[in-house]
Amino acid sequence: ADVVQNSPEGEKDIFLTRLRTMGEEARYIIHTISKILSEGAKKIALITSHPKIRHEIVRWLAGLNLFPARLQYKDGLANIIRREVKEARSIREIDEMLERRFLPGLKEALRNDLCPVEASSNIYKIARVLNEMSSVRDYMQDGLDLNTYKNIISYALEDVDDQEYINWPVDIMCLRWGDTIYGGTHVSIIPSFYQGNMPPELSSSPFFQDTSFLPANAPLFFTILFPQTETRVALAAYKLNEYILSSKDAVYLTYPALDESGSETYPSPFATIINYKELSPPAHLPIPYEPAEDRREHVAMHVKHELDRMMLDREERPEIIKDPEVKADISDRLKNATFSATSLEKYKACPYQYFMEKVLGLKPIRPKMPEVEYKDRGTIIHTALELFFKQDTQTLFAHIRGEIPFEVIEKKMTECIETAIKTHSDLIAEKDTALIEYFKARGIATCIEAIKKEKELIEEMGYPLIPKYTEWSFGMEGNQPLVLNLPHMREPANLNGKVDRIDVDETHNTFSITDYKTGETQSVIGKIEKGEHLQLPIYIEAVSKLLLNDKRPVGAFLFSLKRIEKKHGLGIEEYRKFYFPSINKKVFVEEKVWQNLIDTALRFAGEYIEKIRSLEFREDISSCKGMCDYKEACRYAKR
Ligand code: SF4
Repeated sequence: ADVVQNSPEGEKDIFLTRLRTMGEEARYIIHTISKILSEGAKKIALITSHPKIRHEIVRWLAGLNLFPARLQYKDGLANIIRREVKEARSIREIDEMLERRFLPGLKEALRNDLCPVEASSNIYKIARVLNEMSSVRDYMQDGLDLNTYKNIISYALEDVDDQEYINWPVDIMCLRWGDTIYGGTHVSIIPSFYQGNMPPELSSSPFFQDTSFLPANAPLFFTILFPQTETRVALAAYKLNEYILSSKDAVYLTYPALDESGSETYPSPFATIINYKELSPPAHLPIPYEPAEDRREHVAMHVKHELDRMMLDREERPEIIKDPEVKADISDRLKNATFSATSLEKYKACPYQYFMEKVLGLKPIRPKMPEVEYKDRGTIIHTALELFFKQDTQTLFAHIRGEIPFEVIEKKMTECIETAIKTHSDLIAEKDTALIEYFKARGIATCIEAIKKEKELIEEMGYPLIPKYTEWSFGMEGNQPLVLNLPHMREPANLNGKVDRIDVDETHNTFSITDYKTGETQSVIGKIEKGEHLQLPIYIEAVSKLLLNDKRPVGAFLFSLKRIEKKHGLGIEEYRKFYFPSINKKVFVEEKVWQNLIDTALRFAGEYIEKIRSLEFREDISSCKGMCDYKEACRYAKR
């Protein structure tokens, strides 16, 4: 108690909040974190060993992993280390740099529950390499010169994928009671601040408290093994004091009125000696997950599907349509349908999924979430970028010519996000206000990074391809479809789609296509050959035939908003150096191969449409990963 009382607390605020139950406490903490984040993503330490609270909060935070928060690592951490090692002037300088600058951060990252698995395996590799360097030094001793040492490190880091970067959702450390907050934090949140938990209840076993048999000068270590009352209280007080001192702005202490066994609790006795302010929770705390009622229904539905699955060999299978009238009716409907590239890709991935979505018209059930849903975030960001390129392309080029500063672009982009959020107000209705603000801040940051990247790409071009059309559609909104002749059916098929952006070089009569993806992108060429990717070839064909038939296509690319990169797609080699010198060489092919790839995609599209029109929806579960939106309703899903 003395330790806490006598420590300088500085200007920080300490708040104590009493909640009714542990569930409410978890919800309050989520609410508090989102509020703090919306005020600017600060560093937050959540310190709790309570499994329920940890689980609830970590699960919720993991859902926020959309926008890269640490773009400065986009070059790859291994790359950064290699660069710095190369510039070092002595072995000692390298050792100090590795030990002081990189290793502590990497170790902290590995302990962080929120570090995504893909990043942690990468971090692990780097940490292992850096750790091994000390053994290398010991082994080689004086026989090691500076250049050899640099080469060894550079070589060892070579197989770490430089494109991977640490992508923490937010700066939150999820620590257990007793852990140290490395590097301090802005805000600490300490739940379960009640008597019996803080300080912990003393053991009822007299053995561990009876220290009378110890000699008077027993080593300090023994006092931990056989703690007396004062030792345990002092240890807890010491840790609490350390957490308060490590928090720059505020400490939030919370406790539930009832513990897990339903017994009434009292605030920790430490509360009597801390200068805290009482903070009441808001009247309405949003529930971050579906209510328990829904969960019960959810389980019941699983049980029902499991029973169905056990009867897989029964005769009635909805996807095998036998009734002639129903058959005729569906055939008629499909004959007049227009098909999008993505729906045909879905058919290729799983005909049964296509059947549920397009023939039965089932809609997946989405759990209620407090934050803006993943797919809706994509829609809003697409609209914002569309607005920007519609209204502000000239401003971007004025900036490229050095006539205006980048701040003007940032302001315009912020306005576009605000307008996009207003346009899609239905998508954010009933969402947590603090999380909408958080999404807005992240959305602005992502779009600004995307524009910076586009600017870099434009600056490299021999002659610029200028964004001219955004969200150009065909086969929808009253526009002409792309007509596709089918090899075995008389009736041709109509294709539709919406192209995010078309850039045109009027001087050389060329154009390119960009499609924004909210998540990761993957290599396209191999997928076209297997009939798994149709979108870009169909878009190229549609723009060439219906919009710009006097111009030549030179490339079509996917822009990953998660990675801020234009790495995958398809381009013509002849134009690579002129228009796209820094885009991945592997996506460029000779003009003949380019045309073959487009023909291949159109052939696959025709094949799928013929199968759909022939009502072939038998499931192909060989490639099912049990991850699709319809798995709840699917008897074949692997669970
Ligand atoms: S769960 Fe698998 S088999 Fe079922 S619809 Fe989805 S992808 Fe197809």
